[in-house]
Amino acid sequence: MPSSTVENYLKAIWSLQQSLPEDTLVPVGHVAEKLSVTPGTVTTMMRQLLKKELVHYTPRKGVMLNDAGRVEAMKVLRRHRLVETFLVEVMKLDWAEVHEDAEVLEHVISDRLLARMDEMLSHPTHDPHGAPIPSESGELHRDLTSSLADCAPGHYTLTRVREDKPAFLQWLAQQGLKPGSALELTARDVHADTLTLSLPHQETPVQLSVPAAKSLLVAHG
Ligand SMILES: [Zn+2]
Repeated sequence: MPSSTVENYLKAIWSLQQSLPEDTLVPVGHVAEKLSVTPGTVTTMMRQLLKKELVHYTPRKGVMLNDAGRVEAMKVLRRHRLVETFLVEVMKLDWAEVHEDAEVLEHVISDRLLARMDEMLSHPTHDPHGAPIPSESGELHRDLTSSLADCAPGHYTLTRVREDKPAFLQWLAQQGLKPGSALELTARDVHADTLTLSLPHQETPVQLSVPAAKSLLVAHG
């Protein structure tokens, strides 16, 4: 099993690749920023990842996972998301407070324990935040959703929350907003940069900043 540091680099590179066009190298500076380390530290690690044949790396241009690197990244992502699901569904922890524990456990859970968790959860396809769980063979099902920040007024279903901060997740839950919740986007205020939402069990409309709305993925209806 690769070390937890290697796994965190693979995860970070994979996640940065998601916001770039396919087959684009991720600048080393972006990896450094994401992991809060210096670009020099990243460059040293790139040599290790190259030696392990997990990445394509061009000095001064950037880095990209190769097939083997992607498989490893998907394994960590699967462990992370299954652990979060297990902590919420079986251990009854609050969905707002499982990310940090999953960050640790994703590196130490054995395949045997993971298989048992998966079985106890009846092979879930999504974690408590609505994120798809990669399959055992490393396939990741992409949901067709858009960010609420880009949506026109109308009725939507919240499908995924792409934010790990406990305070924000708790606030969402207080508004009754969790993956699967219905919501109506009633107005956009371009000057205040806010959205107004009407929620089924809330009498007063909820104001949300556009930056916060970016982390909410929704489907029509
Ligand atoms: Zn998480």
